[in-house]
Order: sequence, then C-alpha cells, then structure tokens
Amino acid sequence: MNTNFSPNMIKTYQSCPRKYYFQYVENINVPKSLLPFEKGKKIHALANYYLQKIKIDRIETALTPQEREIWELLKANPFYNMDYLKSEFTLNISLTSHPTLSHTAYSLTQLVPRWFELVSQKGRGKNSYWLGGRLDAIVHQNDDYYILDYKTGSIPKNPEFDPQTMIYLLCANRYLKDYHSLSFVYIDLKNKQNYVVQFNEQLKEQYEKELINICSVICTDTVYHGNTASCRYCEYNKHCIL
Ligand code: SF4
Repeated sequence: MNTNFSPNMIKTYQSCPRKYYFQYVENINVPKSLLPFEKGKKIHALANYYLQKIKIDRIETALTPQEREIWELLKANPFYNMDYLKSEFTLNISLTSHPTLSHTAYSLTQLVPRWFELVSQKGRGKNSYWLGGRLDAIVHQNDDYYILDYKTGSIPKNPEFDPQTMIYLLCANRYLKDYHSLSFVYIDLKNKQNYVVQFNEQLKEQYEKELINICSVICTDTVYHGNTASCRYCEYNKHCIL
C-alpha cells in the first residue's frame, strides 16, 4: 500500500477518487495537452535562475510579450525581492496517526494495557504517512520566512486548507525549526495580487489532523467512486465506465 503522498495526489483524490485510482494506483498514463503548463514552466525556471543569480539575459529575450509581462510582475513583487534562502527544492514530512484513548471510557486497570498496546502500534509504524513536494522558493526578512508559490493560473479556491499550503507549511516548519514567523504566499500573477497564509500552532494541529484523515481515507479506499462533476476536463473520460 502506498503511504507517500504529494499535494497533487491528494488534490486528485479530492476531485475524483476514481481518477486517483487510474493515475496513482494503476499508473495509467494518458497523454494530455501540456500547452497550459508551458507558460508556467518557463516562468518557474526563470524565477529559479534569477534567485540563484544565474545570468538570464538571453532567456529573457526569448520570452513572448505576454510572458515578459508576467515575468516583470514577478520581478517587481515585494515578496520575491526578499532575502533568498532556497529555491526549487523538495521537502518531506512524516505524519503518524495515534489511535487515541479519547473515544472510549477506560477504567484504570484497562488503561495501562491499552496504553502499551497503542505505544507498540506506533512502534510498528502503523498509520504513518510521508508527505512532501517541491517548493518554488523560501525567502525571508530577518526571522520572518515566506514560502513562495508563483501562480500563472488560478490560486486554489480554499487557500488556507489546500493540500499544497498544508503540506509545505508543515514541511517548512519542521525544516526551519527556529523562526519568528512562517507564511505561505501565493503570488497570483493572473490577478496581480498576493494571498498570504500565516502559520500558527492552531493551524499546525488542524493541518496534521486533516492530512492524516485524508491519507487514511485514501489508504483504506477499495472502491474509488467516480465524481461525475469533474468529468468534463478529465483525461481519463474515455477509459472511465461509470
Ligand atoms: S471521467 Fe469522471 S469519474 Fe471518471 S475518472 Fe474522470 S473525473 Fe472521475
């Protein structure tokens, strides 16, 4: 059973469990148009070179006027101009669900053996999930850190609880350890605005709970229901019999 998850895997499952099954369980590859991603890919590559102080003059001259406009917007963004820490790198985190005692009332004599049972389950690594992904960049201003995500398309509908936001913030929190503040910034290049999610202890707890929940749902799913509301633009619609 797979227990490694990326934000895309979780988003795919949330949009349609059956699509998740085709893509990540059966590993069926269906050709899809890469055109919508081309612009984003170019901007991401350029942004990474620029942050790493690699000469980009020649690449810049090859941009289309529309790409040039997006690139200039990113270069002028105040978050993008903060001090550079790292870009285009992968972070992972392991989350373990602990069966809790809270759902059942135990007498004192029952409690001790139950506690040993839970500890030994944890020791066997039951219900552990690895989550991770590739971050566009982390920048900072003194001890205030910002995970940047450049979006040439739309930002998520519910940015605070998007799998990407939750996973990257938990990963960066573990990676940085010592900081004053940590935020996730969607740089929305389409609508020329920034959307900032500031991390805190309450969100940390909610994110861990939410991600463990969704991972355990995925891991125990044996049916993978289809979601017909997502069929219109689905690349598996020719293979999918509902
Ligand atoms: S065609 Fe519809 S139901 Fe089938 S995998 Fe795609 S989104 Fe899901």
